[in-house]
Amino acid sequence: MPEIKVKNTLGRRLETFRPENPPQVSMYVCGPTVYDYTHIGHARTYVVFDAIKRYLSLKGFDVFHIQNITDIDDKIIDRAKAESRDWHDIVEEYTRDYMEQIEKLGIHVDLHPRVTHHINEIIEFIQGLIDKGHAYVAPSGSVYFSVDTYDDYGALSGRISKELWGQEEEFISEKKSPYDFALWKSRKPGEPYWNSPWGPGRPGWHIECSVMSTRYTGESLDIHGGGSDLIFPHHENERAQSETFLGKRPWVKYWLHTGMLLVSGEKMSKSLGNIIPLKEALGKWGPHVLRLWLLSAYYRSPLDYTETGLEQAQRLHERLVHSYQVSLRRVEKLEPSYYLDTKDIATLKRILDIRREWDRELSNDFNFGAAMRWLWELTGVYYKEVEHSESNALLALYLSSIEDMNSVYYFMEEAAARGPIGLENQLIDLIVEVRKELRKKKMYDLADHIRRVLGEMGIKLMDKGEETEWVKD
Ligand SMILES: [Zn+2]
Repeated sequence: MPEIKVKNTLGRRLETFRPENPPQVSMYVCGPTVYDYTHIGHARTYVVFDAIKRYLSLKGFDVFHIQNITDIDDKIIDRAKAESRDWHDIVEEYTRDYMEQIEKLGIHVDLHPRVTHHINEIIEFIQGLIDKGHAYVAPSGSVYFSVDTYDDYGALSGRISKELWGQEEEFISEKKSPYDFALWKSRKPGEPYWNSPWGPGRPGWHIECSVMSTRYTGESLDIHGGGSDLIFPHHENERAQSETFLGKRPWVKYWLHTGMLLVSGEKMSKSLGNIIPLKEALGKWGPHVLRLWLLSAYYRSPLDYTETGLEQAQRLHERLVHSYQVSLRRVEKLEPSYYLDTKDIATLKRILDIRREWDRELSNDFNFGAAMRWLWELTGVYYKEVEHSESNALLALYLSSIEDMNSVYYFMEEAAARGPIGLENQLIDLIVEVRKELRKKKMYDLADHIRRVLGEMGIKLMDKGEETEWVKD
């Protein structure tokens, strides 16, 4: 069994995956700031960490997955002002969108902590940083983290020179150093606020993730994830806050960051008008094809949204689902195998090799993209060798291989793929049988009618010579 290697953004080295308390794994991923619709760039990060969780579960780990919701932030307040709406409305509208879309993508986060539900904990954490001499209160009532008191600042992002640490320009005059960042922002007229020992105000952005992750995972976090645009300043600041507060290094064992999502080679941006909302991509491609595509590259590399890329994922999806469903029904009808011929033995070994190679790619820093090649290979073996085999053992191995792969990529609904076995399948078999007789008698009009009506019900027929196969959408 290959050991799992993980590339750590901190140090940029490949390390052996050893969580603090195996088989438990704690994983915290920076979630959405709910001021706009979730787009496919966000979806990539969420699907990658969901697939990492699924792969670790397949390997016997028990992953606790936290993804926060930033429900107070400048962007939310700005949008509320621009649209003359209550900021709570903005938060509710886009939180609902986020929850609905990730549900459709089959992502099951264990905990979604919200910032505004943790204001007391944030205040306590900031007070702790002040008491330890890592933060100071400015005359306005804002509190800043003193970057000079943390000796490893810049190590995560690789920005070693202080000149590169330019931080929030706001209130620059009251900071001790220009690169200090806000932990607590004093109240501005017309903006939401909470009371604190330093006066009314609201938390800065970075502090929430330090507070909520340590609250739910303790002093050591195994995996901290997010998009690569969060490395600086967000994760650099989180690290400074948590390690000085806890007096512990490392606080995070493995920092993992997803690469950028491009649209036809360009960065998605409001000004280019090329932002693709997740809802739109889901409507066009469906969750399973979209997931296969989102996992078709190494997670740290850029991924380009093109029609060709998605069509390729669609073809792979068709092969996987078709071969799985047909095998599933055939396996029930075949006699158990008491003997394998030489050809079947060779095919069996080939499938086992493919499974091993697939696993080897995944154990090498969760390379879902490289491992996908083995999904193609596996379906290739199906169409060449398994499809016409009479061996129950071979079909069963094919099915369990697809199921393992599906447990990571999630390219089909487990229950829907199996379908209501029994009466419904028997009835479809009967209709297909009757249609076969009609075709023999050259009653093509009626045969075509049956195909059309079944198609409308989501049952697709494929004629192969005299025989007909069917799959359910
Ligand atoms: Zn965060």
